Amino acid sequence: RQMCIRDRTQERRLVTAIPGPKSTEALKRRTEATSGGLGMAIPVVIERASDAILLDIDGNQIIDLGSGIGVTGVGNSAQRVVDRVIEQVQAFTHTCFTVAPYMNYIEVCEKLNAMTPGSHKKKSLLVNSGAEAVENAVKIARHYTKRQAIVVFEHSYHGRTNLTMALTAKNMPYKEGFGPFAPEVYRVPMPYSFHWVGDQATISQDAIDMVTHKIDKEIGAHNVAAILIEPIQGEGGFIVPPKGFLPALAKYSKDNGIVFIADEVQTGFARTGHMFAVEEEGVVPDMLVTAKGIAGGLPLAAVTGRAEVMDSVHASGLGGTYGGNPIACAAALGAMETMEEENLVARARHIGEILGSSLRELAKKYPVIGEVRGRGAMQAIELVEPGTKNPNTAAMSAVVKYCQSQGVLVLTAGTYSNVVRFLPPLVITDELLKDALSVLDDAFASL
Ligand code: PMP
Repeated sequence: RQMCIRDRTQERRLVTAIPGPKSTEALKRRTEATSGGLGMAIPVVIERASDAILLDIDGNQIIDLGSGIGVTGVGNSAQRVVDRVIEQVQAFTHTCFTVAPYMNYIEVCEKLNAMTPGSHKKKSLLVNSGAEAVENAVKIARHYTKRQAIVVFEHSYHGRTNLTMALTAKNMPYKEGFGPFAPEVYRVPMPYSFHWVGDQATISQDAIDMVTHKIDKEIGAHNVAAILIEPIQGEGGFIVPPKGFLPALAKYSKDNGIVFIADEVQTGFARTGHMFAVEEEGVVPDMLVTAKGIAGGLPLAAVTGRAEVMDSVHASGLGGTYGGNPIACAAALGAMETMEEENLVARARHIGEILGSSLRELAKKYPVIGEVRGRGAMQAIELVEPGTKNPNTAAMSAVVKYCQSQGVLVLTAGTYSNVVRFLPPLVITDELLKDALSVLDDAFASL
């Protein structure tokens, strides 16, 4: 693999404090020039990146355990992505697929139709972002069913556009002051095992009973166009539904003519040790929404669904100027080729073993870690006040800050802002991952 940044290798290396003097200067310009509404996970400015290493403008090499929020699974500037993008940008940059089509859009859709779960006939639509893909999935489900209600879950995250804000659960920071929100969105309970009572089977059954009761009695199943769910909730804090919950929801949807939509924007493309997270329990959604990991960092997203659902919309009812841009499609083909040729599904499982066992060891040592959860290369720890399940936001902030100061980038999540999540590039080396985890250990020791 191309593992080097200039002449350096995939290793953590600090040459200044974080942030260094050049980043500090550059961030003043950031404050002056960019909207105050934008957040920032780590206060450094990036010059280059390769696989799991970010190089900042002061020359620090930082281990990336976030992949730009689960995007660069194939690695940053992955070779096959770079090669195909260069070739495409020299061939042509844009025609608009709905004006004059081109082959790589079609090829990406063929690949998605083949690689997503289910042997039924499928078709796909390409757009620019996860939120836009979720919006389109909802549009299509409503058009197909001629129904309006959309059922979503507590702790869910589906985006920041007007409709997807309504679909997203958490008020601060995503919704506060941005209303009014779109109507006909109904929120139902999500089985969050760490905070619920009982074993997995009981929690699953309790949740199904509550969800179906709400739909049957408060909405009317015949009014529901779609049930939309993340198979493992991302921004909500890597909440893994108990076994049996997703299959029961899929069955309920089928029995009631409801389109079952899996939002695999964060879980998709080998991340969880399956190509798609719903595969864990053999669930076949009617529609599957993807983005992030699809194109190695280029903006692309997709809706893939049953042909009869995807074809129910009149011609020109769907589209957009940039959706499925040829350069993004070239990147997607390079990313998909990387996933296959480097067997990133197996690689995610391997990462999961290292990550999971290390995090469980830390949980034994540090009672501030209330739970370790996730699957494959998508794992998280929920931080609590020791001996309770009360959220410990202060510990989360301190751990993240410590990791940053030592050149390790980790992301946070959680409805209660007390989750540290790990989404490393799937090509991260074992050595780099273990180095980052030893820094994490030091971070807890320093609390
Ligand atoms: N759905 C899920 C599950 C996500 O995690 C995200 C992004 N964090 C989105 C949708 C929205 O994607 P985007 O930011 O590309 O609009």
